[in-house]
Amino acid sequence: MNLLKYKSTRGGQSDISASYAIVQGIAKDGGLFVPETLPKLENSLDELKGMTYQELAYHIMKHFLTDFTEEELKGCIDKAYDKKFDTSKIAPLVNKDGVYFLELFHGPTLAFKDMALSILPHLLTTAAKKLNIEKEIVILTATSGDTGKAALEGFADVEGTRIIVFFPQDGVSEVQKRQMTTQVGENTYVIGIIGNFDDAQNGVKEIFGDEEFNQYLNENNYMLSSANSINIGRLVPQVVYYFYAYLQMAENNDIALGEQVNVVVPTGNFGNILAAYYAKQMGLPIGKLICASNDNKVLYDFFNTGKYDKDREFILTISPSMDILISSNLERLIYQIAGEDANKTKELMDNLKAKGHYEIDPSMKEKLADFYGGFASQEDTLLRIKELFESTGYLIDTHTAVAYAVYKDYVNKTKDTTKTVIASTASPYKFTTSVMGAVDKKYEAFSDFELIEKMSELTKIDIPEGIKDIDKRPVLHTKVCEKNEMKKVVGEILK
Ligand SMILES: *Cc1c(COP(=O)(O)O)cnc(C)c1O
Repeated sequence: MNLLKYKSTRGGQSDISASYAIVQGIAKDGGLFVPETLPKLENSLDELKGMTYQELAYHIMKHFLTDFTEEELKGCIDKAYDKKFDTSKIAPLVNKDGVYFLELFHGPTLAFKDMALSILPHLLTTAAKKLNIEKEIVILTATSGDTGKAALEGFADVEGTRIIVFFPQDGVSEVQKRQMTTQVGENTYVIGIIGNFDDAQNGVKEIFGDEEFNQYLNENNYMLSSANSINIGRLVPQVVYYFYAYLQMAENNDIALGEQVNVVVPTGNFGNILAAYYAKQMGLPIGKLICASNDNKVLYDFFNTGKYDKDREFILTISPSMDILISSNLERLIYQIAGEDANKTKELMDNLKAKGHYEIDPSMKEKLADFYGGFASQEDTLLRIKELFESTGYLIDTHTAVAYAVYKDYVNKTKDTTKTVIASTASPYKFTTSVMGAVDKKYEAFSDFELIEKMSELTKIDIPEGIKDIDKRPVLHTKVCEKNEMKKVVGEILK
């Protein structure tokens, strides 16, 4: 098989192997690594039908990680998708109210981030070994709540790595915060920052781009890498479950092979929906890619006007993992619709950095025809949680509910009857206050932690292992810093 190489969206690096792209995390010019050509599916969908999640993962990921041997890749997959997940299906598909919820939250931290972060540490350590890298790999991560915990869980006590997570001190749910601050593992560091997710993400990007600092780390035998979805090793495993959802529908005879389905993805950093776009480019029959935003609706505005403008008020919402104004992975889509023009991509990204906005030209906008941008207000989101629960007994989290609300709205407006998959990105147990409050106001009197028990009584679903007794676990991480102190903190940890 031909080796698939990677290059930076901004033109500064090319001819990079998958292994190297994963270890490096982000390109040196600040761009993101993308495949030189998006691969086409080698097998027919019929051949993939009936495969387990693990088998399918191999048959999809092999297209992207061509310098991994079959044994290496299968080894990574087997270590990732095992008993850590509470169902052997890994990502079950549930049909409610005529729409399919792809439950991506059955991993150890109850959010879809586990789908990629349970395998990334294995991909990364395998890649480092292949490249004879002997430095200690330091995973630097900014989180809007879910990535942090999933990355900590994935990298805790993984030999040859350390993990440092920055989260917005006042921008995550109580359960999310407690999940992170109680993390065990000698190599784990968790720091709250006084600022929002974009501040945390900018700080991390700046550290990556700081040549002097990287030189210093290098001399001290460290190498930085990223667990954010800017890392191609995060993105590739996410392509798998779109195929899995489709094939489950085909196996259940809900669709004929080849029939198009729409997908709705609750979006923040644009990683998850970009994986769906890659799946479509590979040959999965996806119709519309529906991008659902919360009140921070930069992407809704972008898809509707062609103008990306981050200069606006940052709103803290009940779907905190989507509270983002700079959607990093959109750069990869921009690169595609610019006809893989790195200069054009760089120019737009430079505009974003310098002026806070950019606008795509009509020929690029035309290539966005497969996307539909929608958004849901908090009020609408809460109403949809209640409505779905009352009609079906199925309880969804606030992020999934943003997608569900946008889906309902989309169908009302377009009368599109295409069968639709909603990426269900978190367990309702992570956002108990908002979810239970939506069902009945009487629950507003209780704390996040008390409501875990109440949610279990209401839904008759056992409390997931990952958060059982979470309020009783010892808090091990208490450090808080200003947003401009992040580099200093990293320096102290690695001194
Ligand atoms: C991270 C996250 C999202 C947003 O996903 P992106 O890939 O950043 O667009 C949505 N929902 C939940 C629960 C998340 O954790």
